Amino acid sequence: MDGERRAHMNGVHIYDAPDKLPPSNTRGQYQIGGCVFLYYIYLEYLVLLGCNTLHLYNLIAMHNSIREDKYIPTKLYKKEEIQMNSVSIPTMEPDRQYYFMNQCKTLVLEKKAALNRPLTYNIQTFGCQMNSHDSEKLKGIMDEIGYEEVDDEAADFVIFNTCTIRENANQKLYGHLGHVKTLKNKNKEMIVCLCGCMMQEPHVIETLKQKYKFVNIIFGTHNIYKLAELIYSYLQTGKQTIEVLDETKQTVEQLPRKRKYTFKSGVNIMYGCNNFCTYCIVPYVRGREQSRKKEEILAEVEALAKQGITEVMLLGQNVNSYGNIYEYKDGKIVEVDEKDRVTFPQLLAEVCKIDGIERVRFMTSHPKDLSDELIEVMAKEPKICKHLHLPVQSGSTNILTRMNRRYTKEQYLALVDRIRAKMPNISLTTDIIVGFPGETEEDFEDTLDIIRKVKYDQAFTFIYSKRTGTPAATMDNQVPEDVIKNRFNRLLTLVNEISNTQIKRFADQIKPVLVEEVNHHDASLVTGRTEENVTVHFPGTADMIGTTVDVKLTDCKGFYFMGERIG
Ligand code: SF4
Repeated sequence: MDGERRAHMNGVHIYDAPDKLPPSNTRGQYQIGGCVFLYYIYLEYLVLLGCNTLHLYNLIAMHNSIREDKYIPTKLYKKEEIQMNSVSIPTMEPDRQYYFMNQCKTLVLEKKAALNRPLTYNIQTFGCQMNSHDSEKLKGIMDEIGYEEVDDEAADFVIFNTCTIRENANQKLYGHLGHVKTLKNKNKEMIVCLCGCMMQEPHVIETLKQKYKFVNIIFGTHNIYKLAELIYSYLQTGKQTIEVLDETKQTVEQLPRKRKYTFKSGVNIMYGCNNFCTYCIVPYVRGREQSRKKEEILAEVEALAKQGITEVMLLGQNVNSYGNIYEYKDGKIVEVDEKDRVTFPQLLAEVCKIDGIERVRFMTSHPKDLSDELIEVMAKEPKICKHLHLPVQSGSTNILTRMNRRYTKEQYLALVDRIRAKMPNISLTTDIIVGFPGETEEDFEDTLDIIRKVKYDQAFTFIYSKRTGTPAATMDNQVPEDVIKNRFNRLLTLVNEISNTQIKRFADQIKPVLVEEVNHHDASLVTGRTEENVTVHFPGTADMIGTTVDVKLTDCKGFYFMGERIG
């Protein structure tokens, strides 16, 4: 099969690499091995039980990933130590990726010399903070191998880091690709690369293989770190190179990264999600929860602090369930012993001890896992910003059950009470979905009721959109569009009214503000944030960026404040 030399038994996993590349020790990608017979019995069993195919796919993926190895820290790979033959290609990470970065660097240098001009790249990022964070890693690798970043899609190397949370995201991507094809016809050097959540969907890969043959490199969410290896593979073969892994228990973090800001940074503490909310595709495309080791996270934050970063945002789909850690032991991936694990609040407390870090944020918290221990740590530790994003999604217990959120309206309200009892001024924000299948007027009234009771500082509101592949997409009682629109407008009116009132409680207060940028509309102003995540614009200059200054919040403009610097 052209471009598809090795297909995994589950049909998702496709890889095309030059023969001379030996496989990485970190993957199970070349093996079917193991207990194939049991696989089939298990599959039959699940099919008989009527399991949906995506669950099936994930169960298989979990089994496959058991065979993976784990990175054992070694020295950084230096160019002079590389012998140019396949035998010397490192099998352990991140050595292997440094090897391929060096190989790519040489090829890129040759290309630049032949063209007598620099080579450029552009990354388009869609979706959430996790994708933005992944794009920083991609940029770090692209810089390292010798491409220069530009703002324009008309670059020599274009990467789309995709999101698939919404049904119409796919159509949008295909629209973009039409434009890119035109650009590629004008620039024969252009390389087009797609990665991210959408690539985890087998039907997307099939469409790309059949209709978008000009796309050169495709990979998913579990092997972002392999960008250099995949580029090298493509440059060697000139063939469409596709590698989409089902799941991995390995995280490779020790690679170059280009951070957007010099004073704040995201830090991944975990990957994936085990919650399977019935409307959400994330667990299917990002895989099961996997936490990074405390030592690795603390080392990363310490290194960031030494580079001048003062604010860190600990990132994960559900940070409150941090602690599901795997390690490399006796040649196998195993779960870390219960007694050696730490909870998320314990991790937070450790991060706060790091000198130079002034602010700690985290995102996202699932209400069902938010413990009293976390509330205690947040209340006690001044470095932890008093802002909590606590997605409620609906105020109706009936709808919450259908969403598989695993808390009731009453439990959520009791949690908010416990939080406010310890931190009366905390800023609470949320996500709300309106029009979930089966939502009655009474259910919707419950949502309005919870908004009135909690008094959110901000709420991100979404109209339910059917996402193929999720259980909610096939649920009965989909709500008619006109009913949803009507409810959505009522919801927005209430949310805006309450946030406009809530923000005013900060009026005339003096708050430390971390300056982030020069104001986009008025260069005499700078823009920053308080710990409660309130945006403030005030007179200032570019040299203040990255510093924390005291600002009096003088004039409330609805969602933000104008202010004046004190002292
Ligand atoms: S917690 Fe629910 S909504 Fe959030 S990523 Fe996991 S499944 Fe999706």
